[in-house]
Amino acid sequence: ILTIDGVWKNFRGHSVLRGIDLEVHPHEVVSLIGASGSGKSTLLRCVNLLETVDDGTIRLDGEDITDPRVNVDDVRKRLGIAFQAFNLFPHMTVLDNITLAPRRVHKVAKKQAEEQAHDLLVRFGLADKARAYPDQLSGGQQQRVAIIRALATQPRLMLLDEVTSALDPELVVEVLEIIRELKESGMTMILTTHEMGFCREISDTVCFLDGGVLLEKGPAEKIFTEPEHARTREFLRSVL
Ligand code: ATP
Ligand code: MG
Repeated sequence: ILTIDGVWKNFRGHSVLRGIDLEVHPHEVVSLIGASGSGKSTLLRCVNLLETVDDGTIRLDGEDITDPRVNVDDVRKRLGIAFQAFNLFPHMTVLDNITLAPRRVHKVAKKQAEEQAHDLLVRFGLADKARAYPDQLSGGQQQRVAIIRALATQPRLMLLDEVTSALDPELVVEVLEIIRELKESGMTMILTTHEMGFCREISDTVCFLDGGVLLEKGPAEKIFTEPEHARTREFLRSVL
């Protein structure tokens, strides 16, 4: 689905991504781990075109999305994105938050968009919250709505950046549950997380970033039990 090839990103002369190569296959769950500042969020932001890359290419379904002539809206239509800060629209109900993009961007009829939203809310146990406003929900519920909102446009690929890190521990579980369900449904995902137990359980592939370099990549079990690099071992020792 996604091919990242030799991607570099600089901020004011400082290289934050240094030649990242990464292939994401259909139905694959790829986790990015690494110390704070290692470039995980920046890589996701390059994929959804919130940042331009300074060198290298990113292909989505074969199309070079780093080509300056690319239609950014069209690329984003194919991606579902959820971040640490939920970014729900506070003045809109849950239902309106979820149906906004399908209606505005994908031109889905109101009734159909609401039916689809309702199905998603049922699937993720939030059917009774359709008419609630974000501030009437717990943090965990808000994050679930944010993920449902990202799903409502039926993306090819989901990008999830620290979706549990703003939450109290007891609320983390319900968000992880959603991601687990998404994996079972075959969704392709790239996620960053500090939840190492969850990362190990859910990821097909784990990538360890170190100072903007993708130092090590492999099956989750391999990375967690026998990492090749001393830096990876060090990092895992410090977080596990
Ligand atoms: P964390 O685990 O804390 O979320 P991260 O791995 O996601 O860290 P990034 O947010 O990708 O790290 O940041 C990588 C580096 O790029 C950091 O040194 C950060 O200061 C720098 N950086 C990110 N965005 C910008 C920006 N817009 N302007 C300048 N520097 C930036
Ligand atoms: Mg980050």
